Amino acid sequence: MAGSGKLASFRLPPLPTIGEIIKLYNLRAQKQLSQNFLLDMRLTDKIIRQAGNLRNSTVCEVGPGPGGLTRSILRAGVADLLVVEKDTRFIPGLQLLSEAAPGKVRIVHGDILKYRMEGGFPAHIGKTWEDEPPNLHVIGNLPFSVSTPLIIKWLEQMASRTGPFAFGRTRLTLTFQKEVAERLTASTGSRQRSRISVMAQYLSTVKNCFTIPGQAFVPKPDVDVGVVHFTPLVQPQIQQPFKLVEKLVRNVFQFRRKHCDKGLQMLFPEAQRPELTHELLLRADVDPTHRPFELSISHFRALADAYAGLCEEHEGIIGYEFREELRQKRHQHSRRRGGEPCAGK
Ligand code: SAM
Repeated sequence: MAGSGKLASFRLPPLPTIGEIIKLYNLRAQKQLSQNFLLDMRLTDKIIRQAGNLRNSTVCEVGPGPGGLTRSILRAGVADLLVVEKDTRFIPGLQLLSEAAPGKVRIVHGDILKYRMEGGFPAHIGKTWEDEPPNLHVIGNLPFSVSTPLIIKWLEQMASRTGPFAFGRTRLTLTFQKEVAERLTASTGSRQRSRISVMAQYLSTVKNCFTIPGQAFVPKPDVDVGVVHFTPLVQPQIQQPFKLVEKLVRNVFQFRRKHCDKGLQMLFPEAQRPELTHELLLRADVDPTHRPFELSISHFRALADAYAGLCEEHEGIIGYEFREELRQKRHQHSRRRGGEPCAGK
């Protein structure tokens, strides 16, 4: 196994290459688990370098698969590596790696979407939120099929300081489809600016580190891949509950090409819509003709504060969901057309 001298601070004993491991255990990639493997150690080392200095650190690796990235993490000199892998077929190969690095690797056979990371590490590795980030890192060449729900879950946990963030401002180094990586880091006014840009950037410093061409993976995915690094902010840029911010941002971006007041209107029930939308924009001092992608985090902060105020003053606003109302109307309409009696009529 070739290694890049700069990164290595722990030497693994001679092991079969990742390619040999794949053959040995007959680990054909499964499409439904979005399995695209990285076999090039220079690339896995490069990903690991984005996480920072890992010497004596604690790492959680998501989806280690045949273990290419895992080897780079070990060679960086970590003290404790917890890997979470869903596919049983990879467990024997990971056990081999665990034996090669005694006392360093713990294997969890499970689903990262369900795994409770609070219980995975001792409390003493934690730092207070205001302190420097803890010496705990989450790293993963994520399965595309789970990367978006996973980052949304982790952003919510960042806001509530639970999951990996129960230990402080834990840093994440993760791969995404290139388009998702671009959206995560898109600045105000850019074409890729979207819901996920605002949600990620109000809570963390997000860096799009580099792009890995699709052909570097086996099998080759249809897209290129971006490596993204997140450091939670000490003070989130919006000081309102995550769910409220998420609802506001979702409503604004549902009409991306229209003026932002079009999406904002949908935060309010029909009867109060014009009046409360006007009040919201006035209080937030936001120009209604801005397009959603032109709104900065400061605009969203002002809108979230104004919206929270209106929710306090007007009963029933916070729970109002335009799409839910639409769904119920459609349901009633189709029942009427089908000749069934309508509930409540
Ligand atoms: N880390 C390896 C690499 O870089 O070559 C494998 C990456 S592959 C894109 C994604 C890995 O995540 C696979 O090993 C797959 O089995 C695993 N995986 C898929 N869904 C998962 C889930 N929900 N929880 C944990 N692992 C999962």
